[in-house]
Amino acid sequence: MARITTDPADADLTHGSDAAPAPQADAYLVLSDEERAKGFVRPVRRSYVHSKADPACGALTKMSVAIAETYARDPKFYVGTYCVGCKMHRPVGEFTWDGTDEEVGS
Ligand SMILES: [Zn+2]
Repeated sequence: MARITTDPADADLTHGSDAAPAPQADAYLVLSDEERAKGFVRPVRRSYVHSKADPACGALTKMSVAIAETYARDPKFYVGTYCVGCKMHRPVGEFTWDGTDEEVGS
């Protein structure tokens, strides 16, 4: 399981999307506890579906609470996210929150 960090300069972070299968990053950036405590502008959702992939995917990926709360505090915080089916980071617009047709990142 990747660790989380609040340091944008952490050397284990990855950036952007993957064009070929790759492991998860060693670390993922999240907002601090203090920032997340300021309140959520979206529901805290723990999983998303790779619903708009080409070729079709449909895999469900689950997140840690800290990442889920970061999305809920700042829906535009991430530009890409990991799919356990494709084993790639892909643009958030290719995903919808599990059980909804709402795009991740909106
Ligand atoms: Zn996928």
